[in-house]
Amino acid sequence: MQSIVETPAEVVSRLRTTFRTGRTKPTAWRTEQLRGLRAMLTEHGQDLAAALRADLGKSEREAFRTEIDFTVREIDHTLERLTEWLRPQPVDVPGHLGSATAWTVQDPLGVVLVIAPWNYPAQLLLAPVAGALAAGNCVVAKPSELAPATSRVISELLPRFVDRDAVAVVEGAVPETTALLEQHFDHIFYTGNGTVGRIVMRAAAEHLTPVALELGGKSPAYVEGGTDLAAVATRLVSTKFLNAGQTCVAPDYVLTDPATARELEPALAQAVRETYGSDPAASPDYGRIVNERHFDRLTGLLDSGRIVVGGEHDRAGRYIAPTVLAGVAPDSPVMGEEIFGPILPIVEIENLDAAIAFINDRDKPLALYAFTESGTTRDRLSSETSSGGLGFGLPVAHLTVSDLPFGGVGESGMGRYHGRYSLETFSHRKAVLDKPLG
Ligand code: NAD
Repeated sequence: MQSIVETPAEVVSRLRTTFRTGRTKPTAWRTEQLRGLRAMLTEHGQDLAAALRADLGKSEREAFRTEIDFTVREIDHTLERLTEWLRPQPVDVPGHLGSATAWTVQDPLGVVLVIAPWNYPAQLLLAPVAGALAAGNCVVAKPSELAPATSRVISELLPRFVDRDAVAVVEGAVPETTALLEQHFDHIFYTGNGTVGRIVMRAAAEHLTPVALELGGKSPAYVEGGTDLAAVATRLVSTKFLNAGQTCVAPDYVLTDPATARELEPALAQAVRETYGSDPAASPDYGRIVNERHFDRLTGLLDSGRIVVGGEHDRAGRYIAPTVLAGVAPDSPVMGEEIFGPILPIVEIENLDAAIAFINDRDKPLALYAFTESGTTRDRLSSETSSGGLGFGLPVAHLTVSDLPFGGVGESGMGRYHGRYSLETFSHRKAVLDKPLG
């Protein structure tokens, strides 16, 4: 039983005792945990949605689509395939080993830590937890203190639906996370910013603990002339302004040539009006900025370019209208760091060569998006740039495909998850050789 006075060391020790009993290893235990997690999400979807509204002004539709149902789908995908994924994988044996056979098995790692951020505070905690449980681990789940309502609901609900001696929720901010990071875990899965990512990696190094760092960055959207700009604008708006722009894989900025920019500007303004109406503050589908600190940071970026649409803001309501900025200089403040809010700058470049150079001059992004009809452009972007994911025609959606690995590269992170990649991340693939004595 989890007690509220447990220290981080006691939590980890209790979970390690559970792990050592071996009870988390059978597939039956793992599927039971996944079903429990699923039941929590389906039976308490409304409670989670209410918490997400309180934390982020998230609409119920968005809460279900991007957090609750998303995680349920990820769990279902795993439940359907887990037995198959866990089968030992035979491998070829070289001739000098004669009659030997060899295969790999996936061992659970032990006790793992999942640290989640505030922007999708349910999905980004529970999807990795599902992966860790599918792999037969015990898990300490650390929700973000910046989404306090969601943190509270999950910490109350989760122990009721899963094996509470194998899964613990530890709420808290920097002191609590720091205390957790001093413990010896067998894996740390962190989602958030690169500054804390470095803190996590340093702490993990003390125990030689492997880490996955799911970080962010500026994900560009390249728009080529000659594409259907009304359709491009609709897709940019629906993905950029989701969760008021606070999405790690949101298109951060648009790269396009000057002539296309002139046509895209009114198309984006039109798409914003069609999606959120003439007063987005009144739209039930439009979210709010997580806190005043981020609000102040974001409003400080609004004069980095000419406002095409939006710009209105209200600190008391933590509201910033969906905003498009044109004629943005590459060295302007809005291009300095990941925006992580509802501001879409358009940066003009001459052509594809310049776009590729622009992308390669900067940190490797979590995602790169492109709108183009040209196969050559696709091939060049694919082979001449590096990013965590690559999306043609539709931003963000690649992360909803459970069979695709989700993760960053370089500054946008390391490691990957979703579907079978979660199982790989939270397991050790053990090599086995068997050579008969005869
Ligand atoms: P956050 O402030 O909620 O921090 C994330 C976690 O780190 C929290 O649980 C917090 O308690 C913990 N933390 C904060 N400071 C700490 C410290 N000094 N020591 C130890 N732990 C600490 O969230 P955030 O970092 O603001 O999240 C936004 C960032 O996350 C953006 O850069 C975004 O792109 C990125 N992100 C990435 C993904 C992805 O899947 N790759 C998803 C969402 C967000």
